[in-house]
Amino acid sequence: MRALITGGAGFIGSYLAESLLEKGWHVSIIDDLSTGSILNIEQIKDHPRFQYAINSIMNAPLMAELVDWADCVFHLAATVGVRLIVESPVRTIETNIKGTEIVLEMAAKKGKKTLITSSSEVYGKSVNVPFREEDDLVFGSTTRARWSYACSKAIDEFLALAYYREKKLPVVVARLFNTVGPRQTGAYGMVIPRFVHQALKSEPITVYGNGAQTRTFTDVHDVIWALRHLMEEPAACGNVFNIGGVTEITILDLAQRIIKLTESFSQISFIPFEKAYDNMNFEDMMRRVPDIEKARKIIGFNPTSDIDGMLIKIIDHIKTDMNKQDGGDPF
Ligand code: UDP
Repeated sequence: MRALITGGAGFIGSYLAESLLEKGWHVSIIDDLSTGSILNIEQIKDHPRFQYAINSIMNAPLMAELVDWADCVFHLAATVGVRLIVESPVRTIETNIKGTEIVLEMAAKKGKKTLITSSSEVYGKSVNVPFREEDDLVFGSTTRARWSYACSKAIDEFLALAYYREKKLPVVVARLFNTVGPRQTGAYGMVIPRFVHQALKSEPITVYGNGAQTRTFTDVHDVIWALRHLMEEPAACGNVFNIGGVTEITILDLAQRIIKLTESFSQISFIPFEKAYDNMNFEDMMRRVPDIEKARKIIGFNPTSDIDGMLIKIIDHIKTDMNKQDGGDPF
């Protein structure tokens, strides 16, 4: 099998590339390194079944060539990270919508199976947990930039399902829930690498709001397992799947666990949302829990990773990174 991975030098994309190579696939990636990094593909750069293009998915002629070469497309390229979304809404909307349009258009011309990665953000501020794929989506006002990400991902989903119905493109949508693991950067707001860096440097841990908001963190290995199986399962086509972990945790509890596991002297500092996002009219969602029955039924998805196990791996990685001469992840 030949796979094209858009966003293949990103955190999740690079793990997916590695695992497909291990399974004997040929892998081609495209990444503009906006949030990805060449360091993420360092170990596979010279692999005989791997090729990479440092370029934009907006480059339609190049995308046509790459899709042509591939048997299937994993579309992971997107503007991600709450900080980036709030600060660069134009880029968020354009990359997420135009980019997906180009991918789907090229894939449809050649009938190549495509997996579109979406996000648990699409559930918006719904409080109806656990979230099921057919649930209503509840977005805030367009005056709050955060919702542009949720809406752009929802449009991606609509578009993918439209291509499935109208153009008969075999396409599947995966809604990812806070994927975490070593190599994730905290530079764009992601909470775990930020807290771990703060704890290791004995700096205050910046809990936004009162820390009662929850997330369900998902090990990147569980996520890439699911992405590959969704691609390989014909019955998944035309469907949307939640891909998320099983343990809901408050952000305050997360901060306390990280302090404990790093044996840090850091204190917790509660930062009001207005301050955290420079008064950019921010709104957080209070709970985020997936119902994963649908993925369990169709591909046997059964994420097992526990939060402390995931945190220990991430802490070890960040410790090693910080000990390197360049100081590691810059934020
Ligand atoms: N968060 C926090 N402190 C930080 C960064 C994030 O308290 O320094 C909170 C954030 O408000 C959210 C949660 O951690 O409730 C997860 O944030 P992240 O940006 O990782 O992902 P999100 O789920 O918001 O997309």
